[in-house]
Amino acid sequence: MTDRAPQPVDRQLPTEESRDLLALVREIAQREIRPRAAEEEDSGRFPREVFTLLSEAGLLGLPYPGEFGGGEQPYEVYLQVLEELAAARLTVGLGVSVHSLACHGLAGYGTKEQQSAHLPEMLGGGLLGAYCLSEPAAGSDAASLTTKAVRDGDDWIITGTKAWITHGGVADFYTVLARTGAQGPKGITAFLVPGDAEGLTAAVPEKKMGMKGSPTAQLHFDGVRIPDARRIGEEGQGFTIALAALDAGRLGIAACAIGVAQAALDEALTYALDRKQFGHPIADFQGLRFMLADMATKIEAGRALYLAAARLRDAGKPFSRQAAMAKLFCTDAAMSVTTDAVQVLGGYGYTADFPVERLMREAKVLQIVEGTNQIQRMVIARHLAGPETR
Ligand SMILES: Cc1cc2nc3c(=O)[nH]c(=O)nc-3n(C[C@H](O)[C@H](O)[C@H](O)COP(=O)(O)OP(=O)(O)OC[C@H]3O[C@@H](n4cnc5c(N)ncnc54)[C@H](O)[C@@H]3O)c2cc1C
Repeated sequence: MTDRAPQPVDRQLPTEESRDLLALVREIAQREIRPRAAEEEDSGRFPREVFTLLSEAGLLGLPYPGEFGGGEQPYEVYLQVLEELAAARLTVGLGVSVHSLACHGLAGYGTKEQQSAHLPEMLGGGLLGAYCLSEPAAGSDAASLTTKAVRDGDDWIITGTKAWITHGGVADFYTVLARTGAQGPKGITAFLVPGDAEGLTAAVPEKKMGMKGSPTAQLHFDGVRIPDARRIGEEGQGFTIALAALDAGRLGIAACAIGVAQAALDEALTYALDRKQFGHPIADFQGLRFMLADMATKIEAGRALYLAAARLRDAGKPFSRQAAMAKLFCTDAAMSVTTDAVQVLGGYGYTADFPVERLMREAKVLQIVEGTNQIQRMVIARHLAGPETR
């Protein structure tokens, strides 16, 4: 593995404060995250202490209001932080994005009382969150979910199984979408469930192709009793809350994808400058130079696309179509760039001695999570052509 720290990306940042923030993040990433990534991803160790450190540094609540302990950063800054973290280790970058997704419902739709009661510890008090929408039989068609919440006086009783939950079993709180009414999207309500709620258990984590340090597990809700004070938003508003979180979350996935792709390009470039064949560094051969040029172009295009969507969001304008485009483009770019990085390293790229094979395995999941790339195309097409009529 190459130990060279990657060169800083030439970023456009709006303020001096945000430039300092990115410098701090890079320092934490290089010191605390990147050096342990390969070994811990191999052994499947979840770096819980890194999330505690990030929380202490104010990095788990960046895009949220200062009054509740958030960092009040615009999305264009927050996403570039995610990109840096993901470049060091996807388990951490994606973990921060999922945590942020789990805070989104309460921050956007909670009452002032709920926000002051819970947000400070969620955004900067060391807690880690998870977001529970998917189920074993409800993936892309998330509105068909069947986990039920039934009213019992001032409480709700939640029963059912959630699937594929990032931080399942290690999170301190779960934002859970459950059915409280009729079939379809209008019968769904959101709840904030504490990690130690009675009747809540996590299955053994999935054995995944990559991101092995990030636990992904089914969660079983066996009559979990939650007070109505932990209902987020109105009854039946849950799917709207879930989709709003996903619009923002998709930008997080896009930024993580560009981080993974950038890490792969950095590795490929370092290797190509060093490795000699036919008496020359392989970086001298036009076949590889063009490949490196294409990789770099995809990364810059992806970064520009997610930042354009983020700036729309920061300006309070609709950004759902652009978020879907950014998620689609950036994750496809990450898959292509990481695959090419393996090619640049030849046989060595196919071994675990270099990080590019891991980056390639990690890129794959980004085309699947938070709406597969087929679903992103459906979202984009709906914005262009209206809803399907058949
Ligand atoms: C590592 C990991 C972490 C995850 N973390 C979370 C999490 O924290 N919280 C959470 O709620 N979920 C999480 N998920 C779940 C993820 O969001 C789902 O896997 C994803 O939405 C797809 O659902 P599915 O796996 O059931 O696939 P399916 O929906 O069964 O899709 C299978 C295939 O069919 C395609 N397909 C489905 N419908 C259509 C259509 N109408 N048109 C064209 N193609 C279609 C899909 O694109 C896909 O290729 C995670 C998944 C993974 C792998």
